Amino acid sequence: MKKGFIDSHCHLQLDNYKKDRQRVIERAREGGVSLMITIGIDLHDSWKALKLAEEEPDIYCTVGCHPHGAGRVTPEDLETLAEMAKNEKVLAIGETGLDYYRDLSPREIQRKVFTEQLELARNLGKPVVIHCRDAYRDLIRIMVEKKAQEIGGVIHCFSGDWEAARTFLNMGFFLSFAGNLTYPKAGKLREAFKKTPKNRLLMETDAPFLTPQAKKGERNEPSFIKYAYGSGAEIKDIKLEAWINQVTNNVHEAFPSLPNPYYNKRIS
Ligand SMILES: [Zn+2]
Ligand SMILES: [Zn+2]
Repeated sequence: MKKGFIDSHCHLQLDNYKKDRQRVIERAREGGVSLMITIGIDLHDSWKALKLAEEEPDIYCTVGCHPHGAGRVTPEDLETLAEMAKNEKVLAIGETGLDYYRDLSPREIQRKVFTEQLELARNLGKPVVIHCRDAYRDLIRIMVEKKAQEIGGVIHCFSGDWEAARTFLNMGFFLSFAGNLTYPKAGKLREAFKKTPKNRLLMETDAPFLTPQAKKGERNEPSFIKYAYGSGAEIKDIKLEAWINQVTNNVHEAFPSLPNPYYNKRIS
């Protein structure tokens, strides 16, 4: 089995792909994508993510409630998420976190729902996929309080500074970088990427959002993951093939329940 690009964070179940979802998935496969992790943002969306993951062998998912919708989350929602998370196609809880940039739910509620999902992940023995914008101080405070280093997971679409990066790395978290790594003004982001150890990095599209520079103006999709990988290999100054290998290993470490088809087939 050939290793390929892994899109560790996309949103294939969203209506942005309503008309051509199957075509988008096929284009990813044709473009060398071996695995896609489609991320839930609320209960209903998580159902759709799981359904898609159950239909496609190379799609896995997460279930969770995004901070944008935190104000609408009920205690029953979290119980249902916990039930859904028992499915073997569900790799993690998320995306959850804090977003003080758009502030679409009251901050206090965002913090509460994030805390509850950290507890949920701990109880289930699953990692978390964390979203954070302009809220790193509060996010880190809650993660420390909740001993997130014992839960583990991914900071998706990392956009903080090196100080924040180091804190997450010290907690054993992985940092995932998206197509915004290719933006001309992303100097600081590339710097954080460069400093992060190779074995702690993931790549994602966050499709349909965050279209890479090369496709600016288009809807993003998993086949565009090659641009983030290309940029990553360039910054790390290693061959694309080696970078694909490295990220594949990292994904399996970040999501321990993901079946590993390469485990016993190591070519010396
Ligand atoms: Zn996000
Ligand atoms: Zn996302």
